Amino acid sequence: MSHNHQVKAKKHLGQHFLKDETIAKKIADTLSLNGYKDVLEIGPGMGVLTQFLIQKNVVTHVIEIDAESVAYLKDNYLNLSDRIYERDFLKFDLNLIFKNRPFAIIGNFPYNISSQIVFKTLEMRQQIPEFAGMFQKEVAQRICSKEGSKVYGILSVLTQAFYDAEYLFTVPPSVFNPPPKVDSGVLVLKRKNEYKLPCHEDLFFRVVKTGFQQRRKTLRNSLKTFNLSDNLKANAIFGQRPEQLSVSDFIELTTLIEKDQKK
Ligand code: SAH
Repeated sequence: MSHNHQVKAKKHLGQHFLKDETIAKKIADTLSLNGYKDVLEIGPGMGVLTQFLIQKNVVTHVIEIDAESVAYLKDNYLNLSDRIYERDFLKFDLNLIFKNRPFAIIGNFPYNISSQIVFKTLEMRQQIPEFAGMFQKEVAQRICSKEGSKVYGILSVLTQAFYDAEYLFTVPPSVFNPPPKVDSGVLVLKRKNEYKLPCHEDLFFRVVKTGFQQRRKTLRNSLKTFNLSDNLKANAIFGQRPEQLSVSDFIELTTLIEKDQKK
């Protein structure tokens, strides 16, 4: 058992330690373990989730920014020691660990960097067939939401272009120490078999991001900076607002813009 003091929660690192082991196990069990041999846990803290991951038939790596948590993990998870990285997930080159191999990501994530965790995952999508874990409920719902929903936005479209996103269950503040002010939500992302888009992918990212910068405006207005021809702007799709467009509509829109720019 633990022969170390509990880690003192630090607010600036988004530390809310999960107390409920049943929920931790449920999160660990969301991984299918298909298509990869390595798993990376972001922000293990005192290892409540890690203890279930290391029982699985995968190699568990953990990345944790907090020195005190790292010391705790090293004392309590001896077999993990050379796979504990005391680093900032957002800044670390993950291929120093994985050398271009595929890996899954999991965690009860630090909520202060939720979107950035998703964006980094999307950038590395060729290596990440699966992603599971806990966010602030609102963010988890946003990632999984469909067009027409109030919370549908950049994260929803970009994630669902490459992944099937499923919201699994809600977790109340009371199971954390200290309790956060918000509900939490667990989700799983499974990369689509066909995850190469049939359009220019960088342009797709720019169209989605620019389109949602002014949510209430029509795409005709918000995409002005793309210097579209009058002929293209007459197309009915430009009369819509970004929140009305599905992922495949955004792909179609990107294809139209791509052709227009080549003229
Ligand atoms: N998974 C643990 C801790 C969750 S709190 C549990 O469920 O109890 C979020 C954890 O992420 C904290 O341990 C925090 O130190 C860590 N963290 C915060 N920012 C990070 C970053 N940029 N890179 C890696 N870990 C980070």
